[in-house]
Amino acid sequence: MLRADGEIVSGPGEWEGGRAPKADDTGRTTRPLAWREMWSVLAPILMYHRVTLGRDAHHCSTVAARFRSRLRMLRALGYRSVSPRELATALQSRSPLPPRSIAITFDDGYRDTLTLALPILKEFGFTAVCYIVTDRVGQTSDWTEPAPLMGWSEIREWVAAGMEIGSHSRTHRDLPALSTVELQDEVLGSRKKLEDRLGSPVQTFAYPRNIHGPRECDAVEAAGYDAACAGPAFHDSVFALARVAAEHGFSRFVLQLLPVYPELHRLYRRARRRAAS
Ligand SMILES: [Zn+2]
Repeated sequence: MLRADGEIVSGPGEWEGGRAPKADDTGRTTRPLAWREMWSVLAPILMYHRVTLGRDAHHCSTVAARFRSRLRMLRALGYRSVSPRELATALQSRSPLPPRSIAITFDDGYRDTLTLALPILKEFGFTAVCYIVTDRVGQTSDWTEPAPLMGWSEIREWVAAGMEIGSHSRTHRDLPALSTVELQDEVLGSRKKLEDRLGSPVQTFAYPRNIHGPRECDAVEAAGYDAACAGPAFHDSVFALARVAAEHGFSRFVLQLLPVYPELHRLYRRARRRAAS
């Protein structure tokens, strides 16, 4: 379900709090995150899609001039890049990151992530993760307004510039609608393809349209990822790290930098759900 605030949830499968630690097939144990313990460790994760020269019909696009002014502001305020994986490690070990840490992510792997966003990231000394839809590399997006996607050589260029890649599934389908076999294929198959083509480990995943529930989080963990990015609400798992849509106007953008924002968003969403029931 797409919500007006940009969060997309999978219905009854979504969970909040109270999740017991569990061991996966490899015996690894993940620890549930509790907001009261975590707020001092949290760092904002920004979610971008396209960066364009002018206003674009794509509903998730940011004009390059705005993207540049946001990064200039973050640099002036002393923010520095971390990856979602570093944030997940800090959360699991309860080890605060340096003050003003921030993660920047781009979903889908649009060509303009390389041609327009990368020079601006480099200008201000930030790094970012781009989440790739592996079966659509070098093609045109078919899950939203059509736009050209990076090819493998362009993805290598992105990585060679010091940036990171992660998986955004094979085909960008809504994962909760898939069978278990299809889900595993999207999550594990995309990781294997990225690692085969690029020769380096792929450590994080981003859910298509941010749709996820416990089953999808478990599949991502079982596939060997270290963490996964989701929508703006706080969850108790590194496999559903809160991530905010950075395409909004200035005041919303600044509000979303506050460590308390994901928890406020979760409480707001719960209140709305109760009011509707
Ligand atoms: Zn996407």
